[in-house]
Amino acid sequence: MEAYYRAKQAEYTHTEAVEAGMDVIAEYIISDHDETTDAEVLPIVTQRFLEYTLYYKNEPWRIIDVEGVYNIPLGGGVTYALTLDLLVEIIRGPFVGEQAIIDHKWTHDFWTPTAIQMAAQIPKYLWTLNKLGSTARIGFLNQIRYRKMKDETPDKIFRRVLIDPTQQRMDNIMAVQKKMAIEIANLKLLGKSHLLAEATPSYSKSTCDKCNFVAPCNIETDGRDATDTLRTMFKPNTYDYNEIKLRRNLE
Ligand code: SF4
Repeated sequence: MEAYYRAKQAEYTHTEAVEAGMDVIAEYIISDHDETTDAEVLPIVTQRFLEYTLYYKNEPWRIIDVEGVYNIPLGGGVTYALTLDLLVEIIRGPFVGEQAIIDHKWTHDFWTPTAIQMAAQIPKYLWTLNKLGSTARIGFLNQIRYRKMKDETPDKIFRRVLIDPTQQRMDNIMAVQKKMAIEIANLKLLGKSHLLAEATPSYSKSTCDKCNFVAPCNIETDGRDATDTLRTMFKPNTYDYNEIKLRRNLE
């Protein structure tokens, strides 16, 4: 998506932009990657990308920024950093003239209304952009379903939802973000051994049953060393760019 939209921003033709996106997929296929998972996922993602570029060929916006990185100090020695999928100016429809954030989400199923309502990412991004001088007040959650289905009409695989938070909601969300960031910074100052000593496993059927960390947790609960398991089964999270960059800023 990044290559596709960068090409669009640079005013390449639609065909050239699609080719730019397909080039990235092709490079990934010939690179060193996890083939067992990708054998299922890659064909459907490739298909969805092509369907997406056809369905949204004429989008109602002008692209201002692709994968833009923004930072803002929150006070207390912490910085909030984010990477936007897209920042656009709406050129048609009800929000013409407004700037908006577009956040791509590849998802198995469309998010529920509650999940969308409670998602903090776009409000955090809007708050940050506003503080940095942007006029953006709205965002769109750009959902793309990658599940194989019998009915794959566009309304079943693509859905864009307006996110239009109040100023109070953005302020409240960022107050929590700042509190958490300062807590993380303070804990890091105390060192890893203190963190481990302070962590309290829940040992509950409902959470352990679905927990991604059950393997190392089980090993450490036995009093054994989980370092090899952590090294072979896990890698640093690259999904929530904010937290990753936040941690880097704190290191
Ligand atoms: S398995 Fe997961 S949820 Fe259960 S105690 Fe360990 S870390 Fe906590």
